Amino acid sequence: MMRRVIGALVALLAALGWTPPAQDADRTSTIRERLLSGEARNIMLFIGDGMGDSEITIARNYFAGAAGRLAMDTLTFTGAYTTYAVDEKDPAVPNYVTDSAASGTGWATGSKTSNGRISTSPATDRDLKTVLEIAQERGYRTGDITTAELTDATPAVLAAHVVSRSCQGPADMLACAQDRKQAGGPGSIAEQQVAHGVDVLMGGGRSRFQQRTDSGATVLQDAAANKYTVIASMQEFDSLVSGRRVLGLFAPGNMTTEWAGAEALPYPSNVAHPQACATDHRPPNEPSLAAMTTKAIELLDRPAGAGPGFFLQVEGASIDKQDHAANPCAQIGETIAFDYAIRVGLEYARLHRDTLVIVTADHAHTSQIISIPTDAHPSVGLISALTTADNATMVVSYATAPYHQSQDHTGTQVRVAAEGPQAANVLGVTDQTDLFRLMVRALMPAVRQPSSQP
Ligand code: MG
Ligand code: ZN
Repeated sequence: MMRRVIGALVALLAALGWTPPAQDADRTSTIRERLLSGEARNIMLFIGDGMGDSEITIARNYFAGAAGRLAMDTLTFTGAYTTYAVDEKDPAVPNYVTDSAASGTGWATGSKTSNGRISTSPATDRDLKTVLEIAQERGYRTGDITTAELTDATPAVLAAHVVSRSCQGPADMLACAQDRKQAGGPGSIAEQQVAHGVDVLMGGGRSRFQQRTDSGATVLQDAAANKYTVIASMQEFDSLVSGRRVLGLFAPGNMTTEWAGAEALPYPSNVAHPQACATDHRPPNEPSLAAMTTKAIELLDRPAGAGPGFFLQVEGASIDKQDHAANPCAQIGETIAFDYAIRVGLEYARLHRDTLVIVTADHAHTSQIISIPTDAHPSVGLISALTTADNATMVVSYATAPYHQSQDHTGTQVRVAAEGPQAANVLGVTDQTDLFRLMVRALMPAVRQPSSQP
């Protein structure tokens, strides 16, 4: 079954021209043909939260086999970037292990900050302008979608500026006194996202938007007043049409994971009985990330020649959350669901070559592929054995925190891959903040307004 799915995927990608030339062949002419400078009418940024090389390899081994390839593996230009944060008190000192807020601030604004901050500067708390804000100024339509709460750090960094990622709704402002509306600030993350007029906002986190602001209305009411169509069901999702701003909130908190399975346990765990994942965990009233990506593109797309198109961020959020939870099946399922969303983006870009697609992660994470442990050489971490698409055993280890505690992010560099205008600039080893400059360089200049001067 799994192999048939992969076969179908490979055939589809081949039909669309996205299968890379055989990797033992000379690929120089293909790479030359795909080497594009200049501007991009559309930018699609795919962020796999916590999707380090380890997480990609684990998902590939399980789903496609060790010699298989995921859609995200087919991008022509692939490099790596460093992701470190900085110290809040002394921003000259690196913090080697970033969180999603600081790393998101890095790729969204081009500036390093300290862990927990949302597009604000360390120590000085200045607002840092984001690529989405610049895209809006240049006349692009914008979208921001996720499988987490919409107010979670990754989607937040594009359209909000607060001291702390915890300030998600108006009732969550304990750590952000100066950002409160009452104190003359811009309000919580939810309030700011709605005030920014991002054209398409979709994900989980409905409960944040049901909270009341300092003025007494809920954020949902503010959204309706700011021309948003607010939706929560698949029926409404399916019948959406372009022309109005959309706020889709499909779960009170994070959206449900696609897959489920047993969590990792101390040795010997299930080494003698490797597990197969349940792949049908998402309830029918929640759209998949690929469906949200397809819908967002439909809503944001503009006819060719009409000037700037769209900027869309797509986050596979729960790769990270399930890595924290030491749950390999849920983690792999989220990685594969993210890969399906990337496939949607690549299909669009294949037909619209003025589209820049970027696939990256915000930071690395815990999970590691290890040798099968034995009584003579047991594992120190939490482990789970899985039967892969190769019909072989893969043991995944989580060893950055004790059993029953949240596993931690790690500090290694992560993959950054791209296709389309400016894509070659991901090559080599860059820094996360360079991605902001790459994307801004790819944006078309603002459409010049007719001058009021004679
Ligand atoms: Mg995130
Ligand atoms: Zn995390």
